[in-house]
Amino acid sequence: EYADTPLVVRGLRKEYADGFVAVAQVDFTVERGQVVGLLGPNGAGKTTSLRVLMGLTRPTKGEVLVFGHRLTPGAPVLSRLGALVEGPGFLPHLSGIENLRLYWRSTGRPDAEAHLDEALEIAGLGDAVQRKVRTYSHGMRQRLAIAQAMLGLPELLVLDEPTDGLDPPQIAEMRKVLREYARDGRAVLVSSHLLAEVEQTCTHVVVMHKGEIVASGEVADIVGDSPVAQFEVSDV
Ligand code: ATP
Repeated sequence: EYADTPLVVRGLRKEYADGFVAVAQVDFTVERGQVVGLLGPNGAGKTTSLRVLMGLTRPTKGEVLVFGHRLTPGAPVLSRLGALVEGPGFLPHLSGIENLRLYWRSTGRPDAEAHLDEALEIAGLGDAVQRKVRTYSHGMRQRLAIAQAMLGLPELLVLDEPTDGLDPPQIAEMRKVLREYARDGRAVLVSSHLLAEVEQTCTHVVVMHKGEIVASGEVADIVGDSPVAQFEVSDV
């Protein structure tokens, strides 16, 4: 079941040890070709949801299926999933490309060079990959982090606030990067607290508020919706 669906999240609930319910009830699906934005104000439960679906923390209830498989450490399906959830710690005295090679080797996967150029090209780093990371701007570090998540061209790419700290032209470029990535049947799930950013970047949106989904659907249908616009103004 769902063997060809990048992501199915069903009845997800996460209570922290102190009893705080960060995610009360979350259900959504990410299909091939979609760029899905998980939109909500700080504290809505986006990061918690992404950490659960990456297998970094266990859900209290519910399940996450990546191409029909539950995520467990060492699961073969992990190679079909790329993520930027925890900020990667790059080594500042190494170049961008050296950092990526080091990372790829640490994953123990073969074909270090196979998709390196492609990932770098999609992330738009250009010749900057030869420069030491300590010379990078915040935006370039973000791009490098995204390129890292794209290594091996995983069929499902999960990014937590990838445009954090980027300016509007850079955000517009991110739209191109992620939309292109999702072509050829790949899929992207990206979190954000900015409605305008989701509007620019995503094909579909899942709106979260206080641990629950309050709206979801195609961006064109959701964005003009006044409750969502209101929520953006009052809560973010
Ligand atoms: P942000 O944009 O700030 O990352 P978010 O929507 O991603 O927001 P989460 O980070 O998932 O939200 O946090 C949801 C709620 O869970 C927050 O109120 C947070 O304080 C709480 N929370 C997060 N981690 C823990 C923890 N380990 N123990 C208890 N509460 C936590």
